[in-house]
Amino acid sequence: MNVKEQINLLRSLEELDLILRDMVSPAYKKIGFKSTKPTLEFMKTIEKERNAIAKKIEPRLLREYDIIMQRYGGRVVVQVINGFCGGCYSRLPSEYATRSANNIMNCPHCGRFLYWLSRT
Ligand SMILES: [Zn+2]
Repeated sequence: MNVKEQINLLRSLEELDLILRDMVSPAYKKIGFKSTKPTLEFMKTIEKERNAIAKKIEPRLLREYDIIMQRYGGRVVVQVINGFCGGCYSRLPSEYATRSANNIMNCPHCGRFLYWLSRT
């Protein structure tokens, strides 16, 4: 399994899910997107794209994704900021960063998927 690829696919999936949600959210329309009503064609494109991405994600991770999305309603894949989980703000065990090179890491407190920005 390519860890980096799987994390990127999960992030992409989350973004598409949020787009699909925003499209029908009255709150989103209120902030000035009234005029850009999504066309049915665009919505279909997003759904197609979502399915294509979901197929490339390992079933086990996809199941975890769904559980986390249901629980928190977003921010399923979060950035680690200076050793802290970007989802629940708890400090992560220091060996997590090293282990993340070869493993998909979940926050031990909130369960969200974690990613580290490379510093190169
Ligand atoms: Zn967390």
